[in-house]
Amino acid sequence: MDDQCKEYNSPMSTAQFLFLGKLQDFLPKDQRGQTIGVEFRGRQSIKHLAESLGVPHPEIGQVQVNGQEGTLSTITQDGDRIDVHPVPNGCPIEPRFVLDNHLGRLSAYLRMLGFDCLYHNDYQDEELAEAAQQEERILLSRDRRLLMRKAVMHGYCLRSLDSLEQLSEVIRRFDLTSRITPFHRCLRCNHPLEPVAKEAVLDRLEPLTKLYFDEFQICPACGQIYWKGSHYEKMRHLIEEII
Ligand SMILES: [Zn+2]
Repeated sequence: MDDQCKEYNSPMSTAQFLFLGKLQDFLPKDQRGQTIGVEFRGRQSIKHLAESLGVPHPEIGQVQVNGQEGTLSTITQDGDRIDVHPVPNGCPIEPRFVLDNHLGRLSAYLRMLGFDCLYHNDYQDEELAEAAQQEERILLSRDRRLLMRKAVMHGYCLRSLDSLEQLSEVIRRFDLTSRITPFHRCLRCNHPLEPVAKEAVLDRLEPLTKLYFDEFQICPACGQIYWKGSHYEKMRHLIEEII
């Protein structure tokens, strides 16, 4: 008898799930704050059942099974009562990110604040999950299915569609305020910037830039030049607002 048949023949079990705090964002409105009964057959981990209810595992922190500490890989037993808490705010690893294909603006904002962000608009889901795993990056996405992939250890599901609100969410979730180093990273290619002498880039500057600015930075990877122009002031204002 193969495993599928065994599972089909095993008796139906039921467990009660209660999702707390921000995890309720993933539930339909009428299930928020409520205990949800889940029917299942065979050996099912808490991770599997929680995800079947729409809650991606990287969002999950502490798990309690009948009042005792459990883990996501704990096998659910018939009659279990499972309390699922969100991951507390903070950053368990170096705050380096990989962003899914729809998050170009968010990646530019995060780079502007100095954060290392891997972003390409043509990455496949598998490549994103792999980059998160191999490079120990935090995966940012609005796609719950992507965040549910096994390879993803650290991730966050963005709630907002607005890129500035997303930026605030990420800063809050990973407690990044004290780690912000603005204007140290290339917005185009993610490489750290280096100071460059004005004379060295003079032939590439517009007449007014030449006239009004003396300090420049360059991206050694793509050659983009940065200076503290009107763009800089706008960004600084934005950062102050966010912080
Ligand atoms: Zn660059």
